[in-house]
Amino acid sequence: MQPLIDNARTFGQRPEEFAQLASGQSPQVLFITCSDSRVVPALITGARPGQLFELRTAGNIVPPYASQQPTGEAATIEYAVEVLGVRDIVVCGHSHCGAVGALVRGDDLDAVPAVRDWLGHAADEPPSDDPADPTVEGGVQHHVLAQLLRLRSYPCVERGLAAGRLTLHGWYYEVHTGGVRAHRADTDRFEAL
Ligand code: ZN
Repeated sequence: MQPLIDNARTFGQRPEEFAQLASGQSPQVLFITCSDSRVVPALITGARPGQLFELRTAGNIVPPYASQQPTGEAATIEYAVEVLGVRDIVVCGHSHCGAVGALVRGDDLDAVPAVRDWLGHAADEPPSDDPADPTVEGGVQHHVLAQLLRLRSYPCVERGLAAGRLTLHGWYYEVHTGGVRAHRADTDRFEAL
């Protein structure tokens, strides 16, 4: 923790770089990814402050939309689309994902019931993959597509897509190489950006 505190102490010593951010934010992209500490969206994309609106959840899960049940995830997505007017939404899964790995292996999560119940939101069908593969690549990619499908059921996303002002992207990030692949609709495969 101490190195992080030390950095935070000196971070604000570049006021000229941040002064303009006081007037507001107009990010073009909502970036949805896992809470995993090895995934750093700004590092991957080179985004500066104000460019990426982020939603991070365990396993980059987009929970089912339920208008009667407010969630932080739905509020973040709605704010990004309706208020900030983002043009693109990226759902980025990653290799070696603990959440997807637990799903693929069918881990017993009774000791962490909140995690167990959250992962229950993952998808309508379990991801298929070789349980012995630590990258769980196939499972993660399947999982990303399932979350994109889920996203489409959010009313604000549905409206944005219908109006042609929103584009969805599925990404797969390799924590052990730094490589990024994107899902291509024409080939239905994740390929190098
Ligand atoms: Zn993860």
